[in-house]
Formats: sequence, C-alpha cells, structure tokens
Amino acid sequence: MQMQCLLQETSRRLRELDGDLARRKAEEIVLHVLGCSRSELLLHPRKTLSRLDTEAVAGIVERRLAGMPPAYALGAVYFYNREFAVSPDVLIPRPETEVLVDLVLQDETSEDALFLDMGTGSGCIAGTLLAARSRWRAVAIDRSRAALGVAARNLGARAMLLRADCADALRPSRAFDFITANLPYVSCGEMASLDASVRNFEPHAALDGGKDGLDLYRRFLPCCAGLLRPGGRLYCEIGETQEQGIRELFAALAPDFDLGCLVVHRDLCGRPRVVRAATHHT
Ligand code: GLN
Repeated sequence: MQMQCLLQETSRRLRELDGDLARRKAEEIVLHVLGCSRSELLLHPRKTLSRLDTEAVAGIVERRLAGMPPAYALGAVYFYNREFAVSPDVLIPRPETEVLVDLVLQDETSEDALFLDMGTGSGCIAGTLLAARSRWRAVAIDRSRAALGVAARNLGARAMLLRADCADALRPSRAFDFITANLPYVSCGEMASLDASVRNFEPHAALDGGKDGLDLYRRFLPCCAGLLRPGGRLYCEIGETQEQGIRELFAALAPDFDLGCLVVHRDLCGRPRVVRAATHHT
C-alpha cells in the first residue's frame, strides 16, 4: 500500500476516537512503525510500504480502537525527551515522575555514582539518569520478571538488572550513593476510582500500595540505611495525600535518617510528589 493511502485510511479509522487530531495521530503511528522522520513521510507520499509495516500500523489502530492507552498500543512512550519501550507489564511512565528525575540530576553532583532503582518497571528513571550522566552505574530491581524484560530493552550495559522483592533485595552493603524508588502507592480506596484506562490496562501490582498506599514503602524504607553509604540519599515518589504518612514512616526510622534533611517536593500542580531523605554522615 502507498504511504498516502495508508495515512488516509488510518486517519479515517481514528476519526471517531481522535476527532480533528486523527491525521496527526495516524502520522505518529506510521512514523513509529517506519522509524522515519515526518519530512520523509511527507516527501514520499507514493512510497510503497511493505505488508509487514501495513499490518503493524493496522494492529496499533485496532488496539487503540479497543481502548488501549496509546503508549501500550504503540509499545513506546516519551519520558524526559527519550523514547522508552513499554508493554502492559509495566506502568506507563508519568510526567510527574520527571520531578524525581529533575531533583536527582540537580542534587547528585558527583560524576561517578552507583545508584539503586527500586521497582524499576520500564526502567524509565534509571534509563533517563544513565543517559544524562555518562559515568553513573545502576542496579535496577523489580519483582516482576516481565517488567525486567521491558527494562532490559531500555537500559544499557551500565545497569544491572535483578529480580527481587523490595524488602529482601540485597544484603546491606552501604554501597549505593543514592536510591530512587517509585513503588506502588495507590491506596485500596483510590484503586477503585482510577481512570478506566489505568484500571483496565495498567498492571495493578505496579499501582496497589495496600490500605493507605504505603505498604511497600513501609517494607522498603527500613532496608535503605543498610544499602546507602553514610550520608547517602533516598528519593521516593509518593501520592498527593501521603506526605504526612511518609513523614511518620521516616520519623519511626529516626536513628537511620537525618530528619533535619527530609524534604517533600511538589509536582507542577503543587501536589506533594517526591520525598528526599538522607542517612547520617557517620
Ligand atoms: N502516579 C501513578 C497514578 O496515579 C501511580 C504510580 C505508583 O503507584 N507508583 O496512576
């Protein structure tokens, strides 16, 4: 099929879903499948596409029409200006997680660092940090084998992938300069009120944080001091209602963390989103 016919056909099929944006969305899909630039696409309207490519485009459109979020339908999403592979085995990277990445890049100033990314999922946090700092290395952990398969596509040789549960992941080694964690933090009550596309397509195991949403942090935070070098930092993403709860968890671990250094950062909407904590220097 010719490029222009495929574009027309694809935007026609997407019209119901995407309205005026249908043509744009159709171009996005075709660009993604062909791995080419928009100008190539516009310069060669009569280019004949292979059957494989035409079928791949049709497959994506079908998944979109079935209600699947665009990132899963395409198998890719942009996070912090980079493309990451995703599948329904991992959470779709959220813009609010860019707050955590920004904070780490701003605060962690040494050229060499070894960090732990707990609950890595697609690997978007570790992958973004490693791309930004050429001498950092990471250990990326997830309890889901399928998620690690996705992370492996997104992370290069400077990341070591490990399958483990957050509480018994590693022996206390005090080896890490800092830890990043975006653990599941949605409370039972909030799970029911999530958007249908989140509830129906995204992995509940990556969202569900138990009664108050803090179960996973309750298990993981006590392990952190043993993993971090003295004065090491911990950055974790939380939900907007959890500032008080997470402060209490840290307060209960007071001998491990320097509570004077605990800071809760807000996202662009002004909601509490990332907690930065540090262990004592000695
Ligand atoms: N921010 C995500 C949401 O609200 C939740 C991410 C998480 O549980 N770690 O859908």
